[in-house]
Amino acid sequence: MSPQRQIKRYKILIRKGDQVRVMAGKDAGKSGRVLAINPRKNTVVVEHANIIKRHTRPNPSKNIKGGIIEKEAGINASNVAVICSSCGKHTRIGHNTAKDGSRSRACKRCGTGLDK
Ligand SMILES: [Zn+2]
Repeated sequence: MSPQRQIKRYKILIRKGDQVRVMAGKDAGKSGRVLAINPRKNTVVVEHANIIKRHTRPNPSKNIKGGIIEKEAGINASNVAVICSSCGKHTRIGHNTAKDGSRSRACKRCGTGLDK
């Protein structure tokens, strides 16, 4: 037994920089690039999707201007799907095993590798 309690980390197959499509929520149907992933919260941040307005107070010492800032918020990872660059459709992620035993992500529809 480990003495410290393990922090729950979700296994997210989506990677930073992936082109994804939002499948559910207010921005369903939108697509964009993944800006960040959060394995602790099981969320991904997709550009131009799930925009929130944050009301910020000015803080001159940190050079932060006050006002309403529009910012992307995280979307649950199960509500976005990767878009395959080869077949152009959103897809689930499978795996290809190379001859040396290494596994890489692949499109479930056409089998093309998603990692370069
Ligand atoms: Zn494909």
